[in-house]
Amino acid sequence: MSDYLAYRDVDRAFYENHLRDLVPARLFDAHMHVHLAQHVPPLTDELRARNWAGAVSHPAYPVEAAEADYAKLFHASEVSRLQFGTIYREADFEACNDYNAAHADQRRVWTLLVLDPTLPADRLRERLLAGRFSGVKPYWSMVPGKAEADVKLDEMISPEQLEVLDDLGLIATIHVPGPERIRDAHTRQVLRDWCARYRNARFVVAHLGRAYAFPFARDTFADLATIDGLLFDCCAVLNPDVFELAFRTIGPQRILWGTDFPVLSRMRGYRVWEGETYRNITSADYPWNTDRQPPEVEAQYTYFIYEALKGMREGAERAGLTTADLEDVFGANAYRLLAGG
Ligand SMILES: [Zn+2]
Repeated sequence: MSDYLAYRDVDRAFYENHLRDLVPARLFDAHMHVHLAQHVPPLTDELRARNWAGAVSHPAYPVEAAEADYAKLFHASEVSRLQFGTIYREADFEACNDYNAAHADQRRVWTLLVLDPTLPADRLRERLLAGRFSGVKPYWSMVPGKAEADVKLDEMISPEQLEVLDDLGLIATIHVPGPERIRDAHTRQVLRDWCARYRNARFVVAHLGRAYAFPFARDTFADLATIDGLLFDCCAVLNPDVFELAFRTIGPQRILWGTDFPVLSRMRGYRVWEGETYRNITSADYPWNTDRQPPEVEAQYTYFIYEALKGMREGAERAGLTTADLEDVFGANAYRLLAGG
């Protein structure tokens, strides 16, 4: 473990002061990524520019590293997880899918298949069954030949693939595409249509629809709450205002906690919001990180995942969530979804 990621006094104090009585003994992480170095392409400037998080998860995050992170950061909890591969069309994503499937025992670890939207339905069905996948993880970059701004949600999974998910009763964890994120009316209409039509499949909107900044939440959560059966994960959201509104409108029974490891386990710092945008204030040594503070200030930074949990706690308190509500978010909702329990 590098020095940067060693567990420090500042982390111990943060956990004691803000998280100890929040984090339950059983956790279910509904959104995290594992991959080996041979699964991913070299990090070119083009890939780096595509997504700042790509530099953070590069070059590898094997299962063993993830388990070490859970033991380090949630030492008082037992953590189960839903894991999937890293998401580059240029990656050896099928090998990465196999790697993920090989570690899924359906008792502590479940997995989703990173989805090639051109994969024929019969091949998808075979692959899902043979690998005992719990569903799929579509992503805009898996749509061939298109820039992010041009990808539509209904290009990320084909209608034939949706039929397979519905038939097998499987999950799709969806990262909504485009600059308008969940505020894109077409995206919300597609989600509404899918939930109405494929009633045996389960759709989980990742990152609360990428509503990291409050305006995206304010403009959409009340509408999303009316989509019957739609679920959400809240990983990589740090904003207490967004959490509060999500808990008040969508409700804790439809929100799944997740870490988005390794992104939130490899950075120290916090996030600030300015209108519709956000900035990660971090001491992490990445090419995009040009906004640095003096060393004595940065020395006080804790892990992003801890800051995310503190933001969630603040939102939960303001929305009046009970301990039982929080247990739903931290695990019971995911267990119901995956284990049928
Ligand atoms: Zn993710």
